[in-house]
Amino acid sequence: MKRRDLLKGISATLLGSVTWRNLPIMAKSSSLVRRRVRPSDPQWPSADSWEKLSQAVEGNLLRPRALLAPCETEPNGDACADVMKNLRNPFYVGDQVAGTQVSGWLDAWTPAPSAYAVAARNSRQVAAAVNFAREHNLRLVVKGAGHSYLGTSNAPDSLLVWTRAMNKVTMHDAFVGKGCEGKVAPVPAVSAESGAVWIDLYNAVTTQGGRYVQGGGCADVGVAGLIQSGGFGSFSKGFGSSAASLLEAEVITADGVVRVVNACRNPDLFWAIKGGGGGSWGVVTRVTVRTHELPEFFGAAWGKIKATSDDAFRRLITRFVGFYAENLFNPHWGEQVALGPDNTLNISMVCQGLTSAQMREVWKPFFDWVNASPQEVTVVDKLGSGTLLARHWWNLGVNISLVRDTRDGAPKHHGWWKGDQGQVGAFLHGYDSLWLPSSLLHENQRASFSDALFAASRHKKLELHFNKGLAGAPTEALAASRDTATNPAVLDSFVLVIMADGERPSYPGLARPAMNVEAAHKNARDIDLAAAELRRIAPNAGSYVSESNYFNRTWQESYWGTNYRRLSAIKRKYDPEGLFFVHHGVGSEEWSADGFTRLTKH
Ligand SMILES: Cc1cc2nc3c(=O)[nH]c(=O)nc-3n(C[C@H](O)[C@H](O)[C@H](O)COP(=O)(O)OP(=O)(O)OC[C@H]3O[C@@H](n4cnc5c(N)ncnc54)[C@H](O)[C@@H]3O)c2cc1C
Repeated sequence: MKRRDLLKGISATLLGSVTWRNLPIMAKSSSLVRRRVRPSDPQWPSADSWEKLSQAVEGNLLRPRALLAPCETEPNGDACADVMKNLRNPFYVGDQVAGTQVSGWLDAWTPAPSAYAVAARNSRQVAAAVNFAREHNLRLVVKGAGHSYLGTSNAPDSLLVWTRAMNKVTMHDAFVGKGCEGKVAPVPAVSAESGAVWIDLYNAVTTQGGRYVQGGGCADVGVAGLIQSGGFGSFSKGFGSSAASLLEAEVITADGVVRVVNACRNPDLFWAIKGGGGGSWGVVTRVTVRTHELPEFFGAAWGKIKATSDDAFRRLITRFVGFYAENLFNPHWGEQVALGPDNTLNISMVCQGLTSAQMREVWKPFFDWVNASPQEVTVVDKLGSGTLLARHWWNLGVNISLVRDTRDGAPKHHGWWKGDQGQVGAFLHGYDSLWLPSSLLHENQRASFSDALFAASRHKKLELHFNKGLAGAPTEALAASRDTATNPAVLDSFVLVIMADGERPSYPGLARPAMNVEAAHKNARDIDLAAAELRRIAPNAGSYVSESNYFNRTWQESYWGTNYRRLSAIKRKYDPEGLFFVHHGVGSEEWSADGFTRLTKH
């Protein structure tokens, strides 16, 4: 079973036609009113101050070194050999204080260790770090499992709060949020400390517990980072976004206060955390998410087809769009198809709640047509479908599509999808995503939609992630997802189209052939051109904050749409000094690109 061919070959848009207007606070480039301190500044905390912080966090203060630092000092040493052996293991990278799951982005950002890091064990230690950063005017950065494409968990000259060591998972039969007693009915749920990754929850909730939790498709993504992104997994079309299932979070805000937020306590901050973007609101130390009844089966459909000519590819796209609209546009089907410049259509779809026989029945007309049309298409990879007992989907002993983390002492349930391997440590040349409205599936729009897909696929491979657009989801899932900060456009979008390209890991200090910068820039340009073709038919398309273009100029509108104004107000209430800054995060327009210099008076 092939799940998620996503970015296998690791295969921007500046062209958004909508500009962000009427923001209550706009950057004014000339009036510098505040600068955070760097290690070279006289105001940098003294050794004594750092020692006091170290005591406050019970010795968990670290001086991070770059991921490849052991290879610079001792290229033949054991430590260097260890890094090199594990560099393509996402759990290893996530366990390193300076580890980032992508190794950088052309012209955008480069991994660089923080000056100091607190490897927190509890919320008290997190609060000590937050207070220290605020009192000493430091650049603060927060990291969970390190999957930020935009580099937002990485900042040189900063103090890092790193939550990876806090990863306890607890199941609840009947959970009620604090302060919600008597107001909200108890529901089955799971709590996770924020350093946990989704496979920790899949193991506890599904493999052990026989229930379902809505997390990320990528099994090693951090729980707090994903929920604050909105968060989509393979089966989101059935259950809504991850943020939609959030019941409660514990968060340490800029004032150092440990707050429990839910529908009854600090509901505004609770709403902001549900999709308002990681690293902008505080340090989340614990999340509690609702669990759902587990379908009996999860399944997949796969195969790769190549059209015999450009015209045949146009017809193939039109046929698939019609087939999707009539047979797959419902809560059962998620994940992807990819349309390549080489006239290929690669199917890597997953499904929940259908039997093998039902799945076969669904795909039969399409597969029959492929097999009966050799003048139009040839089969490159065999077509097929199949199911697995849902309870075994994330069970490494059963599902052979998962790669086990074989390091000594690694939890036995830790594994990642084979289809995600190409992304581990990748260096990005460019990336963009667009949410496309479901109106494009109407019969009278399918032809122009198919033409746009064909035109865009001339520039770059398009990955159509049907699970990351919620149109077609059940009413309850839509209602819960509507009550989040994610761009409301997601509710009426049936797909997130992702275009990305890059190359093998390129961490600073890693010995590798010189990068072909010209070819890399061409890749980035081609992504712009592909996105522009799609914008012709969806001029106001939103983009998913955590899988998007670093250079998006209309990011407020693209990521959050009409929710941005409300998010700005909540940001000013809980973090008026802008302690929590990330690139293109809420309120970041008030700061210089590196988050060190405030550009607005306040
Ligand atoms: C290989 C890969 C696969 C991905 N797959 C998916 C997918 O299937 N579905 C999907 O929806 N998204 C996916 N993403 C995007 C991913 O969900 C987001 O980047 C998410 O924010 C990552 O969280 P993290 O903890 O792993 O990363 P980090 O880089 O550690 O954090 C990401 C952001 O969240 C902030 N953050 C992290 N922890 C906390 C915390 N405890 N408190 C406050 N802020 C915090 C960080 O400051 C940073 O801004 C993927 C990304 C990558 C690189």
